[in-house]
Amino acid sequence: MARLTLHTPIKFGCGVQHASFSPGGGFSEAADNSTRRSWRNSVDRIAVLASGGLDSSVLLADEAKSAVVYPIYVRCGLGWEDEEFRALNAFVNALSSPNVMRPTTLAVPVAPMYGDHWSVGASVPGADEPDTSVFLPGRNILLIGLAAVWCSTHNVDCVGIGSLGGNPFPDASIDFFQSFASALSTGLGHDVKVKASFRDLRKSAVIKRFEHLPLELTLSCMAPTHGRHCGQCNKCSERLVAFERSGVADLTDYVTGRANSESHRVSPYAISNNRTG
Ligand SMILES: [Zn+2]
Repeated sequence: MARLTLHTPIKFGCGVQHASFSPGGGFSEAADNSTRRSWRNSVDRIAVLASGGLDSSVLLADEAKSAVVYPIYVRCGLGWEDEEFRALNAFVNALSSPNVMRPTTLAVPVAPMYGDHWSVGASVPGADEPDTSVFLPGRNILLIGLAAVWCSTHNVDCVGIGSLGGNPFPDASIDFFQSFASALSTGLGHDVKVKASFRDLRKSAVIKRFEHLPLELTLSCMAPTHGRHCGQCNKCSERLVAFERSGVADLTDYVTGRANSESHRVSPYAISNNRTG
C-alpha cells in the first residue's frame, strides 16, 4: 500500500484554475482579477510552524495538497531542538512533495526570559505530571510573531499552526489566534491570518486520519537520544496514549520499547531516519 500521496506542484499565474466564491451564486471561476489575486495569496502560500512533531508535520503535509508550504522552524535554545530539526528534515525528505519548501529557521533565545524554567534546565516533566506542566510561557506568541514577520517580507499572509483540541493553554485558543493575527496585521501593515486546522481534533484522531504518512519520522519528545523517543517524558506519554486510542500501529522508536506496534509492520523509512538521526 502506498504510504505517501504525491501532490501536483502548485503553479502561479496562468495555467492555474481556481474556484472563487461569487456573492450571487456560490462558487464560480468568473471572479474578477483582484479577487482572484487576493484568494491566491491567502490560500496558495502558507507558512507552517513546523517543530518536527507529529501534529505540525502532518499539518504541513495536509496543507501541501492545496498550497505551497513554507515550513518555519523556530529555535528558542531548548535542549531537544537539534533532534527536532533532524526529524523535520527527515519527514520533509520522505514526503518528497514539490509543494513543500525546505524548512526556514528563525530564532528567538528564551533563556534570558525563562530563568530557571525546566525547558532550559536539566530535567523535563515526566509522564505522570499534568499537561499543564509542559507549558512554555508565550511560546505561540513568539512562534506566530516571528512567522508573521517572515510572512510580511515573503509575500505570504497565512500562518498555519498545529494546535490540537484539548490544548489548555491561553495562547492556543481561537480567540487568541484571531486577535493576535489582527494585531500583527495592524503592526506589520500586512494582512496575516492564523490557521489552526486541527484545533477541533484530538491527537488520536489526527493519527487515524493521517496514518498513511510516515508518522514514525516525527519527534514528540523532550528528552530524545539519537533520534529515539525516551518513552518516559510527558510528550512521549501523550504520543503513546494517542496511538493506542487511534488503533494505528505505533512505529515510533522508543528507548523503552515499542508500545503497540505489530511485529509484521516495519517502517519503510527506518533506514533514512537512521541516516539523518
Ligand atoms: Zn520523551
